[in-house]
Amino acid sequence: MEVSTLTIDAIRKGLHERTFSAVELAGEALRFAEAENPKTNAYIHLSPERALAAAQAVDAALARGEDPGPLAGVPVAVKDVIVTRGLRTTCASKLLANYIPPYDATAVQKLEAAGGVILGKANCDEFAMGSSNENSAFGPVRNPVAPDRVPGGSSGGSAAVVAQGTAVVSLGSDTGGSIRQPASFCGVVGITPTYGRVSRYGLVAFASSLDHIGPFARNVRDAATLLGAIAGRDPLDSTSANAPVPDYTAALDGNVSGMRIGLPKEYFRDLTSESGQRIQAVVDGLRRQGCDIREISLPSTDYAVACYYIICTAEASSNLARYDGVRYTTRSESSETLSDMYRNTRGEGFGAECKRRIMLGTYVLSAGYYDAYYLKAQRVRSLIARDFSRAFTEVDAIVAPVSPFPAFRLGEKTSDPLEMYLSDIYTITGSLAGIPCMSVPCGTTSEGLPVGAQILTNHFEEARMLRVAEAVEREMAAG
Ligand code: GLN
Repeated sequence: MEVSTLTIDAIRKGLHERTFSAVELAGEALRFAEAENPKTNAYIHLSPERALAAAQAVDAALARGEDPGPLAGVPVAVKDVIVTRGLRTTCASKLLANYIPPYDATAVQKLEAAGGVILGKANCDEFAMGSSNENSAFGPVRNPVAPDRVPGGSSGGSAAVVAQGTAVVSLGSDTGGSIRQPASFCGVVGITPTYGRVSRYGLVAFASSLDHIGPFARNVRDAATLLGAIAGRDPLDSTSANAPVPDYTAALDGNVSGMRIGLPKEYFRDLTSESGQRIQAVVDGLRRQGCDIREISLPSTDYAVACYYIICTAEASSNLARYDGVRYTTRSESSETLSDMYRNTRGEGFGAECKRRIMLGTYVLSAGYYDAYYLKAQRVRSLIARDFSRAFTEVDAIVAPVSPFPAFRLGEKTSDPLEMYLSDIYTITGSLAGIPCMSVPCGTTSEGLPVGAQILTNHFEEARMLRVAEAVEREMAAG
């Protein structure tokens, strides 16, 4: 069996026809991941014991004639900001290098209940802050397509394992683009569901009003299957939505004829020409399949980056206050007094980007500045959400670029945080509005670097978004 190209459907078939057992598949996948990981550093650590135990349970269920679930035997990687019971969860931070959670995130519990096999924890930017996966205490991740380039961030490891074939699907998290941007840089599918569609219980908080868990996969169908398995109301997350979870794969009927697709003019100004050409090819393909293509305007787009970096840093400064050397964290050894202990633990433990955000966030929330920054940013956020609500009265879905440029070189943007922040200029808006959005591969540049097209729909319209994505996928396969 060729683990690097398997899909969920192929695994289901292989298990039912007894071509391989789940334990054989897990063993092969673990061997392959161990052999290939040094090329990308995409896994922080593997979890062979847990993987084999899960695979054994799948084989036992099959032997009893039971249905082991929609993800039976599927090798999965989980971003290391999502907690796993008994399995080290580091958030790619020195502070949590030895943290072993006492519980599973709901998404993890659901994916294992559906038969998924967790191979290990995927590398990422520290506490999910970054756009290149260079902010990890465990070293950067390399893009499997072009090893001198970044995989994108912050879920760079989750995108890289799927592109590299060292997992079939994975879980990432997205606060301002951390699923879509790495998916586009690595040439895989990545979904940011509606805010509240997937429980955040057990996702280590970065900016709680923006954090989402979502799937990565090599094709739209696998991503839809994984989304269906992890979505739904969770009493442990009061912001999780009570809306029923449809069968997302059933929506992939291939018919987009008559669908109204909006192209926001603000998103096509600063694109590199090659990325622009790829998106244009997507648009032409959708038109051929009967879509009605219209230009739309999302006028508040220009304020999105500023608005996001106020809200996310404010929330981060409050969420990260808990890493203080008293709870969870590795404590600094060299302190005489209590305040030294706090200062040294945090000073030695946090990387530069986390410190920058804690300081910015503390500043924007400070007395006297709250109205000028945080409150104003919240108002702008409402305007951005209103832009989308208006647009969705005219169109059924929006197609846009994911990133202004393809994967950049390691080290290229590390000296200029503002330049790095601009990587997310097209993804932040959807996150602020809380709507579902995804990246689907749409070919490569002349240098062979993947480009992703972004598809956005109104709240809880994941099924429609996936249908458009599949149409794009079909168009790309046809060349
Ligand atoms: N790159 C963005 C940031 O650094 C988004 C991160 C994310 O979505 N987790 O905040």
